[in-house]
Amino acid sequence: MRNGEIVNPIEISDLRKYYGDVKAVDGIKFTVKAGEVFALLGPNGAGKTTTIEILEGLRRKDSGEVRVLGMDPWENGHDVHMRIGVIPQEFNFFEKTSPREAIRLYASLFNVKVDADEILREVLLEDKADTLFDSLSGGQKQKMGLALSLVNSPDLLFLDEPTTGLDPNARRAIWEVIRGLKAKGRTIVLTTHYLDEAQQLSDRVAIMDHGHIVAQGTSDEIIRQHGSGERLEINGSEGLADHIRSTTGLNVHYDSGVVAIALHKKDDALTALQAAKSSNMDWGDIRTKRDSLDDVFVRLVSGIVDESGELRVR
Ligand code: ATP
Repeated sequence: MRNGEIVNPIEISDLRKYYGDVKAVDGIKFTVKAGEVFALLGPNGAGKTTTIEILEGLRRKDSGEVRVLGMDPWENGHDVHMRIGVIPQEFNFFEKTSPREAIRLYASLFNVKVDADEILREVLLEDKADTLFDSLSGGQKQKMGLALSLVNSPDLLFLDEPTTGLDPNARRAIWEVIRGLKAKGRTIVLTTHYLDEAQQLSDRVAIMDHGHIVAQGTSDEIIRQHGSGERLEINGSEGLADHIRSTTGLNVHYDSGVVAIALHKKDDALTALQAAKSSNMDWGDIRTKRDSLDDVFVRLVSGIVDESGELRVR
C-alpha cells in the first residue's frame, strides 16, 4: 500500500539501460498487475534479461522509474529480495541434495519456517521429495527450482525461460504448476522463447525488440492489432487468384502456389469459393487461417509489421 492506494507489483516507465553504444533497454514502459501472469517476449538480445535483472535489483538502471512491490529494487535490494521468488535460466543445484533438503536449506537462509511437503505438493514434486538432484529429470529439476522460489512465500515470481530444453510432456507439467501458482493469486513475470507457452499461460504479453516494446496487451489484442485477420487459403495458380480477384473484387494475394483471400464479411469465403468454381481451373486443399501469436511475433521483430492491416501472405 502507498498512501492507502494499492500498488501494482511492477511499474516501469521510461526505463533505460545502455552498455556503451548498445541500447539494451531504450525507454520502456509497462505495468504488471497483482495476480496476473505477464510474459516478456523477444528475440535474443532484445533486452529482456537486462530488464528482469533491473527488476530483481541485480542491475542498476541508467534512468527512468522502476517500482517493484512499491520499492526501488536497487535502493531497497534486501527488502525486494525477501519478497520475490526467482528461478533463473537452467536452474542448477548441488548434485547430492534432495528437494526436501534444499527447501530446508533455503528456509534457514531466509530464516523462515516452512512446510516442505506443502511446497513440494504445490509444484507437483512430492513423489521425488527425497531423490537426489542428479537423479531428477530435467522437468523435475525445474520443479525443484520452482519449489525453492516459493520458500520465502513471495508476492512476485520471476520465471526465466522455465521450460527451455524440456520435452513436451515435461513442459506441460511445468505449465500445470504455473497455472496452480496463478490460481493461488501469485503474480508471475515469465520470459520465454515459446510463443505457445506465453499464449497458454499469460494474461498479458509485452514483445521487446532492440530495447523497445513493440507490442503489448493480451495475446488476442496483439493478434488483432498486428495480425492480418482471418483468410481463406486455396492451393491454386496465379491465374486462379486473378480470376477470383477480378470477378469478386475481394482482396486476393498469391504466393508460391497459395491463393489467399482476406475475409472481412460473412459471405466472403462463399463468394470466393463460387468464383473459384466458376473459373473451371484446378485447385487443391482449402483452409481458413488466422494468425497465431507466433506469426505476429515473427513479423513484429523482423520489422515487417502490417501497418495497413492489409492481408500479407508469407
Ligand atoms: P536473450 O534472449 O538472448 O537472453 P535478452 O533479450 O535477454 O536476450 P539482454 O541479455 O538483455 O537481451 O541483452 C540486450 C543487449 O545488451 C544485447 O545486445 C547484449 O549483447 C547487450 N548486453 C547485455 N549484457 C551486457 C553487458 N553486461 N555488457 C555489454 N553488453 C551487454
